[in-house]
Amino acid sequence: MSRSYTVRTYGCQMNVHDSERMAGLLESSGYTRAVSGDADVVVINTCAVRENAAGRLYGNLGHLRPVKEAHPGMQIAVGGCLAQKDRAEIVRRAPWVDVVFGTHNVHALPVLLERARHNAQAQVEIAESLEVFPSTLPARRESAYAGWVSISVGCNNTCTFCIVPSLRGTEKDRRPGEILSEVQALAAEGVLEVTLLGQNVNSYGVEFGDRGAFAKLLRSCGEVPGLERVRFTSPHPRDFTSDVIAAMAETPNVCPQLHMPLQSGSDDVLRRMRRSYRSSRYLSIIDEVRASLPDAAITTDIIVGFPGETEEDFRATLDVVAAARFASAFTFQYSPRPGTPAASLPDQVPKAVVQERYMRLVALQEEISWAANRALEGRVVELLVAAGEGKKDSATHRLSGRARDGRLVHFAPGDARIRPGDVVEVAIGYGAPHHLVADGPVLSHRRTRAGDLHDTPVRPTTGLGLPSFGAPAPVGGGCS
Ligand code: SF4
Repeated sequence: MSRSYTVRTYGCQMNVHDSERMAGLLESSGYTRAVSGDADVVVINTCAVRENAAGRLYGNLGHLRPVKEAHPGMQIAVGGCLAQKDRAEIVRRAPWVDVVFGTHNVHALPVLLERARHNAQAQVEIAESLEVFPSTLPARRESAYAGWVSISVGCNNTCTFCIVPSLRGTEKDRRPGEILSEVQALAAEGVLEVTLLGQNVNSYGVEFGDRGAFAKLLRSCGEVPGLERVRFTSPHPRDFTSDVIAAMAETPNVCPQLHMPLQSGSDDVLRRMRRSYRSSRYLSIIDEVRASLPDAAITTDIIVGFPGETEEDFRATLDVVAAARFASAFTFQYSPRPGTPAASLPDQVPKAVVQERYMRLVALQEEISWAANRALEGRVVELLVAAGEGKKDSATHRLSGRARDGRLVHFAPGDARIRPGDVVEVAIGYGAPHHLVADGPVLSHRRTRAGDLHDTPVRPTTGLGLPSFGAPAPVGGGCS
């Protein structure tokens, strides 16, 4: 009898990507995805960045203990960044956990589960450096129309608030040919959109000595038949070069969207974050992008309340936000991450001050986002219809999709039988603060193979003979 599994994913797109590999590995080892009830195997793919990451993991494990006691043979596995960091501590605090594996040995999951079952003993196996590139592992993809393709893992930067380099190691780059064959295989399966993933995509190629590799990769994606949309996350301002902007502007299927973390607008704070760029450099990149891609939607990540941040520093952040006119921003209140240099910096900013500044930043960005969305009223946009995002809204019967610039659009399908994965054109009727609305008639509807896949009751297999689909997470909000 095949055993069932479920994967719970926390954190960034890289974790979403890795979870697709964990699911793919389990399915190619004979497990089936649990559709209801308690799974025989629960895998928790953890994040170490988000607030209270540890509290959420141990809370989860606490809830699972009685479930496991009532379900003989059930196994619990913990992977991801917090597993890489906490290691055997997880089994010490939750001895009902069967397997702990890290970010560098995702491939070991099925073997560790078998070994734990055979030896009736918890297995903790953490590799210090990458053993197998996760993207070479079988994947059970969440979507039939969009796919994550990782181009590198790890990061060579040392931002003082970030734990990623110590958990995912220094940057390892995949060979361009390997990436392109994965992109071509996806497009051949009907996938219309790929997102190139890396902690710092635009330093791609540093490992094999080609600083122009990322721009070349974007251009190569432009030649993949059937691939309509290319996105990437996350770039780092320090390594953002003009050849990448030119490749974005000159490659038709590269979407006019850029998520580029600012983190702070104060040069003093950027220096103490060890971000290796200053606000003027950041704004000059924005200007260069807008000169080549006037309709590009630019989004960002900002941390408020970094240790030592003064009112003057914070005002510098507000000034950069006002100048940059971001389409939207992922905003975070700084909280010390155990194991990062910034956690032990003096002058930690009081929570009330951080909260007050955070509200001011959110209010300013909301105003800017809303004005930018209102400016799109009347514009005709092409949407890739999404599954799961903004579900069929029972009150309005709207469906949802993503425009080429990444914006979320809720639209009225009328009587047309529109499926996730199809492509439609609509006219924007109203720009809301965080999304757009199109209640007029659908101007065009293109049925796609990805849409057909969503229509078929029998799940299609991916290139690796594995069933697929659901909805991918939006770009941004990662760590870079
Ligand atoms: S914030 Fe991003 S660029 Fe900086 S160390 Fe972390 S992953 Fe690397």
